[in-house]
Amino acid sequence: MKKTGSSYKKKDIQARFEEIEANVREDVPGARKELRELMAEGRRTRNVYVIGAANFFLGLINFRLGLRSEMLSYALKASAIFRETDDHEMIARSANLLGIAYSAMEEYALAVSSYKLAYQTITKHPKGSMKKSTLNCNMAESYFNLGDTEKAISLAKKCLFDAFKKDPDNHTLVAIVGINLAEYYETAGDYEKAEEIVELSKPSIKELESEIDDLALACRQASIAYSKGDIENGNRFADVVIEITGRGVDTYELHRDYERIARAQIKAGDYDRADKLATLLWDYAKKTDMTIDKITAYRLQAEYFDATHNAPQALRIYRRLNELYERRTLEMKEAQLSVEKQTEAMNREVQRIRRQVKEQEKLIEREPLTKLLNRNALPRVMGEFMETATEKHKKIGAIFIDIDYFKEFNDTYGHTKGDAVIRTVSKLCLKEECARIKFARYGGDEIFGVILGHTDEQIAELAKRIYAGVKKAKITHAQNPATGHVTLSIGLVNIKMTNEINTLLDIVNYADKALYHAKNNGRNCIYASNLPVEETEDYEPYVRISE
Ligand code: GH3
Ligand code: MG
Repeated sequence: MKKTGSSYKKKDIQARFEEIEANVREDVPGARKELRELMAEGRRTRNVYVIGAANFFLGLINFRLGLRSEMLSYALKASAIFRETDDHEMIARSANLLGIAYSAMEEYALAVSSYKLAYQTITKHPKGSMKKSTLNCNMAESYFNLGDTEKAISLAKKCLFDAFKKDPDNHTLVAIVGINLAEYYETAGDYEKAEEIVELSKPSIKELESEIDDLALACRQASIAYSKGDIENGNRFADVVIEITGRGVDTYELHRDYERIARAQIKAGDYDRADKLATLLWDYAKKTDMTIDKITAYRLQAEYFDATHNAPQALRIYRRLNELYERRTLEMKEAQLSVEKQTEAMNREVQRIRRQVKEQEKLIEREPLTKLLNRNALPRVMGEFMETATEKHKKIGAIFIDIDYFKEFNDTYGHTKGDAVIRTVSKLCLKEECARIKFARYGGDEIFGVILGHTDEQIAELAKRIYAGVKKAKITHAQNPATGHVTLSIGLVNIKMTNEINTLLDIVNYADKALYHAKNNGRNCIYASNLPVEETEDYEPYVRISE
């Protein structure tokens, strides 16, 4: 069976994404391929959830691959899409991912506002899987980078405390927040506390058995030792760092630590050790070609030449560094602009998809043979009209159209010709449609029209136009005793909503009575139900509209 947007079960889709998420670490290319397919499927079926989730997971994959600008682009799209939905879990998760992406691009203020959105979402809707401690940990990191070490310490402390209390087996969280908090204390000059936190989170780091986490731990230990002036231990841990990175283990997230360690080594005159980490940063900068990475590498070089009193080289590097900073400022501006443009483009795309979904929904409401609304759509249309009518004290009109002796027509000329007649009448009705006039196929040869805020005369004229249109078509119908052609009987009504008359059925009933009256008066005519203001002697329940 062909799947359509509406036949998608959200649970099935979720299960598919969960499977991808579970396998993403083992098979990145496979996951990426499947996500691209899902994205195409989402576009085809106009399923906003599928498109959003595909973008989210592509962002996550690029994060794991260290592809920072790609990650930002996907995270932006995912976040823009989910923000418009009521999927709180995905709103929070995509806002968190966007925060991480901003942070990776050193846009820390934007990162904080994104984390805040995620935080507010899970505070209001606490059922999902996203945890406050994760967000506190991420937010602390951004505040630290914005220079607010105090705030970073208070958030990270709370996060570590919560992790130990409520989630002691979450070694990943304890490891990350522990190493981060140690860095904040180190920056604040509280080395004792920094070491204490390292010791506290060490068991969790060991538990993870991951080279990256071992590397992060060694970086922290080396950095703290050097900061304290303990060169011996600094060197000891730095050698662990050099040994692990020598095996090809690396992440851009630790580069600031390499820089800090190498700087301490340069200060101590240990150029051999410093050279190893400087080379690593240098090679990485060449490989990624991102200005952020180049700056880190050049900064270290400058420091090196400064320390070795190589003035001409130092000057050359400082000049280059200056250029790089200028370029970075420009790039930041451009990045900002492109982020804004991408967000705008994404919002437009989301709007477009939304519109398509709405159109699709409306298409389902239309009847294939006649393109008129089907009967199921009537309550929605009538509901909207009645709401406005009540609010703005407008009248609601209804018009019932029925083909005369249509059974006989079918019997004589066949069903196909009969269908063509129904289509002819429908076309005349569709010509009259606008925002406040809609027609629905009510039953076999019956068409029902609803009209908002028109005068009795306007509705009478409208009925007459359709009636005359069929007459003008001169469709031979030998079994129609009156004219020998296809004719219509029409009943109509135009009502102000009251306490007594206020449902779809009330309105249908009045129009139906008028139609019945037309049928009983020789067919081929139009009658309107006449609603009495107060019953008087000469009150006529029906008024003839056609001659
Ligand atoms: P009256 O003048 O009283 O309206 O007589 P009638 O024969 O039009 O009324 P009736 O409601 O008894 O018959 C309606 C007929 O419409 C019955 C069926 O053969 C025909 N009909 C219903 N749906 C369709 C359709 O989709 N296509 C065609 N060709 N005929 C249809
Ligand atoms: Mg009929």
